[in-house]
Amino acid sequence: MRDSAAAALIAALFWTFLAVLSAGNPRLAGVEAVSPFAAVSAADSGTEAPAPAGSDCPPPAATIVTEASLQAEQGFDEGFLLPVLRDGEPVRMPLHDYLTGVILAEMPLSFPDEALKAQAVASRTYALRHCAHPRHGEAAVCTASGCCQGWQDPSAAAPSERERAESLVQATDGLVIRYEGKLIEATFFSCSGGRTEDAAAVWGGELPYLQAVDSPGEEEAAHFSDETRIPLDAFRAALRGLDPAVEFPEALGAWVGSVSRTPGGGVDVIVLGGRPFTGKQLRKTFGLRSTAFSLELSAGEAVFVTHGFGHRVGMSQYGAAAMARAGADFREILQWYYQGVRIGPAE
Ligand SMILES: [Zn+2]
Repeated sequence: MRDSAAAALIAALFWTFLAVLSAGNPRLAGVEAVSPFAAVSAADSGTEAPAPAGSDCPPPAATIVTEASLQAEQGFDEGFLLPVLRDGEPVRMPLHDYLTGVILAEMPLSFPDEALKAQAVASRTYALRHCAHPRHGEAAVCTASGCCQGWQDPSAAAPSERERAESLVQATDGLVIRYEGKLIEATFFSCSGGRTEDAAAVWGGELPYLQAVDSPGEEEAAHFSDETRIPLDAFRAALRGLDPAVEFPEALGAWVGSVSRTPGGGVDVIVLGGRPFTGKQLRKTFGLRSTAFSLELSAGEAVFVTHGFGHRVGMSQYGAAAMARAGADFREILQWYYQGVRIGPAE
């Protein structure tokens, strides 16, 4: 009798143990195992391979299916309903659909997988951060690229493009970027022109993870370097509009004075006509692609040569593509452009 009681106890413990083991979602467990505190260069075999759509491993025979385990198998992004202002209408959409639409709108699908995965993680982080700090009433984000993040309805995309975007979002399911435990402001832009910019130089507030870093390999970007030509009369009139105290002597060479630059190579302050102007002021006034510019004056015109496109703070999309082609994975890309961060599951 004592032997059979002991056997029954062991069997009970065994089945409890098995049930606890099998209740965990295999995919989430994989994310846990590799993501939170992995070294930058750690191989990420658990989440690297894009999981085919609906590819949750079939549950082991002994799995006890509960509501909780069903939700877990759905994946974080499928189960999370994001409040979005979609074309002016507040809606709730699964984070997976939102991110698929953001990828379709914000990054060329010809970019390498790892760059697209980096974009998915940055865009997920941006959206979830703004659940706590909604940008449009109760909606965390809107679908306008000039305001929050662009979004294209996945159902309107070509099937091959939609499937590619979906599978790369799925491959990073639930992963977010944190600095000191908090979701970061995951800003991104098209092209830096060779070096990104400090957040402080653009928005005034220091964010330790948004520092200027080199961003090589962007030369293929359409706006790596641009020229903006302004007739000299219009140039002079615009500066007078900004500061009536400017004075322009006969000699053109005396119009341009000292220039101070930001850590990312942008113009901080430039003296023109004897008065100081910020790079941000001139970018806005003359519609320049970026504040990273040089200025040449000739008898007929002022020529701004700009580098990069956008605010240049955070992840450069063309830089991410260059890193991916050089062999970097999405974690390395993110940890380059967002200094000192960790990539881990959202929950
Ligand atoms: Zn918005």
